[in-house]
Amino acid sequence: MDFKLSQKERILKDSLRDFLKKEIAPLADEYETEGKYFTNKIFKKLDTFEYAAALIPEDIGGLGASFVEYCIMVEELARAWPSLRSMVTSSGLTTKLIARMGTKEQQEKFLPRLMSMDEIACFGLTEPNVGSDASGVETTAERDGDHYILNGTKTLITGGSIADVICVYATVDADKKGKGVTAFLVKKGETEYKTSDFRKMGNRCCPLSEIVFTDSRVPAANRLGEEGEGLKIALSGLNVGRVTVTFGVVGVAQAALEAAIKYAKTREQFGKPIGSFQLVQELIVDMALKVDTARLLGYRVATLLDADEPCQREASYSKLFSTEAALEVTSNAIQVHGGYGYTEEYPVERYYRDVRHLTMAEGTTQVQKLILGRDLLKISAIR
Ligand SMILES: Cc1cc2nc3c(=O)[nH]c(=O)nc-3n(C[C@H](O)[C@H](O)[C@H](O)COP(=O)(O)OP(=O)(O)OC[C@H]3O[C@@H](n4cnc5c(N)ncnc54)[C@H](O)[C@@H]3O)c2cc1C
Repeated sequence: MDFKLSQKERILKDSLRDFLKKEIAPLADEYETEGKYFTNKIFKKLDTFEYAAALIPEDIGGLGASFVEYCIMVEELARAWPSLRSMVTSSGLTTKLIARMGTKEQQEKFLPRLMSMDEIACFGLTEPNVGSDASGVETTAERDGDHYILNGTKTLITGGSIADVICVYATVDADKKGKGVTAFLVKKGETEYKTSDFRKMGNRCCPLSEIVFTDSRVPAANRLGEEGEGLKIALSGLNVGRVTVTFGVVGVAQAALEAAIKYAKTREQFGKPIGSFQLVQELIVDMALKVDTARLLGYRVATLLDADEPCQREASYSKLFSTEAALEVTSNAIQVHGGYGYTEEYPVERYYRDVRHLTMAEGTTQVQKLILGRDLLKISAIR
């Protein structure tokens, strides 16, 4: 068991941190303050370190990075700009599915522009009546010659209104429940649909969208996998999705910890820096312990993924622990900043807002507990 990063991993972490500090962090401040949506120019900057191609195998044009390397990238990006991390993770989920499940034609059609970040993708599973139980997808897909016709609504979709490609899950036969769910690659310009965005608590630069399909025609050649394989496809990347969320929140929590330490050393009350008070030190030590534990749980999953070993239990532990821990860490960062922590004078209130949704995404905290309970007890509380 090796708890140290290799030299190559350390260089990746340090050089990425420098690059993001210079190229991305100033944009984060500007865009978040003004609440502007991401532009292609920002995504293109991430191509400098081939973020979107990281986990794609080299033989189809990707970088072929290890999961540990990818997790380092995710943490550093989240530390610099949490909502940008959320957007490109969603895009990456669909990119990876195309790389793993797509036909050669689909890979040629979609992957080059997604990997170079000239285009971005999103992942469209959730619907107004379909959340934790994904088997009840109500959006329909009806075959019509060499097309499918989609009808239905996807909701709470990260980046739905700005994405160029949407991985949409729709049922070809509602009577078959989960076994009718099928995945489609919907391309902007090729298929008609309407989007609108929610007003929301955090991730202000990243739209959260509703997408409405009304007799929307998708080429049959854009079906990802076979009819009925949609849920299998959606769930196939879950362990990777969960460790990605882990490092997403570890990055934000690390940024919150650093901000709290800096503030505690400079802010003075009672004639001393507040960091010299034991109760403030306790807050900071609790934060650091949670960040470190979450990171270690995440590295265990990444290492198991690299070794191609099963890791469903470990992935659930890391997702569950890290997201709940990040809420406490970012909240404590506000506490250390006192009243100013609640204002936009410091970034800590944004860190709190930007991690809040991650106890929901990729399986809620409660769903993780049910998965773990089933695994430990061999009794399912879900159905
Ligand atoms: C910012 C943000 C971004 C998102 N991005 C995407 C995206 O890109 N693509 C996408 O498809 N979806 C996305 N989602 C949706 C997300 O995946 C869902 O919110 C999540 O799956 C939960 O579904 P729900 O919101 O319908 O909650 P529900 O499933 O209705 O759950 C509500 C509450 O009930 C609890 N609950 C549900 N079932 C059980 C049970 N059996 N036992 C105990 N408790 C239970 C849940 O834990 C939760 O607390 C996003 C959500 C947010 C907030």
